[in-house]
Amino acid sequence: MIKFLDLQKINAQYADELKKAVGEVIDSGWYLLGDRLKRFEANLAAYLNSHHAIGVGNGLDALRLIFKGYIELGLMQEGDEVIVPANTYIASMLAITDNQLKPVLVEPEIDTFNLDIDKVEASITDRTKAIMVVHLYGRVSWSHALENLAKKYNLKIVEDNAQAIGAQWNGKKSGTLGDAAGFSFYPGKNLGALGDAGAVITDDDQLATMVRALSNYGSHKKYVNDFQGLNSRMDEIQAAILDIKLQYLDHENQQRRMIANKYLTEIKNNNLILPKAPQNHLEHIWHLFVIRTSHRDALQTYLEKNGIQTLIHYPIPPHHQKAYPQWNKMYLPITEKIHHEVLSLPMSPVQTITETNHVIEVINHWPGE
Ligand SMILES: *Cc1c(COP(=O)(O)O)cnc(C)c1O
Repeated sequence: MIKFLDLQKINAQYADELKKAVGEVIDSGWYLLGDRLKRFEANLAAYLNSHHAIGVGNGLDALRLIFKGYIELGLMQEGDEVIVPANTYIASMLAITDNQLKPVLVEPEIDTFNLDIDKVEASITDRTKAIMVVHLYGRVSWSHALENLAKKYNLKIVEDNAQAIGAQWNGKKSGTLGDAAGFSFYPGKNLGALGDAGAVITDDDQLATMVRALSNYGSHKKYVNDFQGLNSRMDEIQAAILDIKLQYLDHENQQRRMIANKYLTEIKNNNLILPKAPQNHLEHIWHLFVIRTSHRDALQTYLEKNGIQTLIHYPIPPHHQKAYPQWNKMYLPITEKIHHEVLSLPMSPVQTITETNHVIEVINHWPGE
């Protein structure tokens, strides 16, 4: 059986280092807001070349805290609108609605699965305060047109960088292109903790100070509460683990690029559409390798029968979820087509060439229905 993503094998590579680091945290007697978090924040900020990195509880909270920060700073208020790609993972939407802001769903491009910048301007109103770009599947969602639009309408750009840590655009890392970014270290992400963790990245000193307080009960000083905050902190164990795994991230992303490259050049089957690689290979870290076919379910069953595990990211678009009944009647044809047709092939830094060859061979023999 070729697994979609073998987390056990990924973490086994570093087991000795990880166990030693966890042991040291246990022995230290200090489990939250300590030196390990400080060190990881400093190393992450240095890796990204950003002014601030704030460790938080998870990726959803990272995004929630950014908007909450802007609200506390008086830059946004209830009912303000945030443009967001309609095909994103539900967390992007939850971060917006949790703050009583209004997501404005804009269709993606079918080729890149990322926000279609040509469709954004028509959705801007006098309540629009931000554009959230999502670097979906690990591919950077950025352009000069986006920068110009944000400047023209004085909009913040918030990046959902949960899936694209290590990707670059024009020499800058994703997550440092806009005003602020949310990162996720969910175990299955390219930089994965052994539990939940996330981070807020920004060059904005005021926002950074605010997010730090909001993530810790709205407090800069213990038992002094300036804001109605959350409890969303990255614990010392996860920080120690992530600090080790960060050193191997570029290598792991490079392994993923090699697999993606093999899939792109060797899968030959007219019944499916391969993802389009960006011109600059640094713009994609292949968190997911997502193909499309109108016979998606048949292909998934066929691969399963041949011992190949695949997943669907995602089977139901946000506007068809029961959580958002007010959107259920919206018609977003590109988003809906994507959700009907996508299939994510096995992809991980520990996938062997033999495994990749097997996936390619089985797919090349798929008759198409
Ligand atoms: C994983 C993910 C999140 C949420 O991260 P968690 O750490 O699971 O809370 C947000 N947005 C996208 C696009 C994601 O893939």
